[in-house]
Amino acid sequence: MTDLRALPSVDRVLAAAAPLVGRHGRAEATAAIRDALAALRRAPPDPLPDAAGVAALAEGALAARERSKLRPLFNLTGTVLHTNLGRALLAEAAIEAATAAMRDAVALEFDLDTGKRGERDDHLRGLLRELTGAEDATLVNNNAAAVLIALNTLGAGRSAIVSRGELIEIGGAFRMPDIMARAEVKLVEVGTTNRTHARDYRDAIGPETGLLVKVHPSNYRIEGFTKAVAGAELAAIAREAGLPLLNDLGSGTLVDLSRFGLAREPTVREAVAEGADLVTFSGDKLLGGPQAGFLVGRRDLIAAINRNPLKRALRVDKLRLAALEATLRLYRDPDRLAERLPTLRLLSRPVAEIEALAQHLRPHVASRLPGIAVEVVPCASQIGSGALPVETIPSAALRLTPPGGAALERLAAALRALPRPVIGRVRDGALWLDLRCLEDAAGFLASLDALPADALA
Ligand SMILES: *Cc1c(COP(=O)(O)O)cnc(C)c1O
Repeated sequence: MTDLRALPSVDRVLAAAAPLVGRHGRAEATAAIRDALAALRRAPPDPLPDAAGVAALAEGALAARERSKLRPLFNLTGTVLHTNLGRALLAEAAIEAATAAMRDAVALEFDLDTGKRGERDDHLRGLLRELTGAEDATLVNNNAAAVLIALNTLGAGRSAIVSRGELIEIGGAFRMPDIMARAEVKLVEVGTTNRTHARDYRDAIGPETGLLVKVHPSNYRIEGFTKAVAGAELAAIAREAGLPLLNDLGSGTLVDLSRFGLAREPTVREAVAEGADLVTFSGDKLLGGPQAGFLVGRRDLIAAINRNPLKRALRVDKLRLAALEATLRLYRDPDRLAERLPTLRLLSRPVAEIEALAQHLRPHVASRLPGIAVEVVPCASQIGSGALPVETIPSAALRLTPPGGAALERLAAALRALPRPVIGRVRDGALWLDLRCLEDAAGFLASLDALPADALA
């Protein structure tokens, strides 16, 4: 039986733990030492640790608690805009602008020319009009909020006509029918899952109708015997009936992606030009900025949205406005966009470059993961966040194959537990690390160096 009286007292440990107190403060250090001593009493090791040993246990516990779950990680999942991993990485210009706005006061709702009160959305209004060709623009917290406020403003107490093929669930709790209900708009479904015709919309329009809605079927695609009414035709139907057309583009892009070797997506400018009265899209999907939801379109409708009390509840703070302004400015120079905007840079990264990186890293990774087969294999990256759902982009991965299923789970868990976690994709008995989004190769290897020696045993 171990003699627990040999354990040092809290005060003795505190006296031996000056750096611990310095780093975490006396109260935190004392509580952690008490917890460590209590754990030692419950399960006493032999021999018992001395005061310095107990201080080290307390330090370990405090360090683990301080380690943020939001710390940066390596996204090697192959999904560039991964919603669960925070979507778009911001451009340096956006990071600098947001940092500056955090540190100091800014003219958020103050007009520097007149010295009078200003509008917070005015900072982006001009840029958005310029980049989309729309008459006016405003923004809210995210695109789900943009759709909510647009529906509520244009259709509360009335109905909105939507094709059955576009009644999508985007993930989480965002289902078009639920958003409509919350916006107090009655949903009128037309057409069938695979086919909706112009006459379906025309026949459904009545005195109750508040608006027509078109939704980008972001995360799925219907193939085969299909028919949807194109934006321009739907805009004509809406105009004939004197009703507004809302086009929820979802990801929305401000540039023609084929220019960067990607599949074409309709641009926001095209959706506006087709005649949609309002177009909504996200800030942190293909656009490559922070989370936000944009509404662009007719001046009178944007004004009505800005008067809706929901606008105040959904408004965007100065950090994001600063980052968005800097991000949108980059679009004025499309030639250098792919170089400056991480989302486009990563999406357009040549597969040969990724493969060369994989070949270079393979022996270094293998030497850090004894007992695990490390190979360079072709793979397919995805854009993510519902943009171009069925398009994949050729890429290269390191495929890590441990000796068995349990070892695979241990490997994935050990990589997730790193100071800078490495997140891959488990597939076919291996962990795949798609290197498309790996730009800091040295940091990645240094991170692997932090794997505890027994992590894979
Ligand atoms: C992603 C998406 C939304 C929601 O946008 P968030 O910015 O994530 O709120 C809405 N509609 C469509 C079609 C989308 O693809």
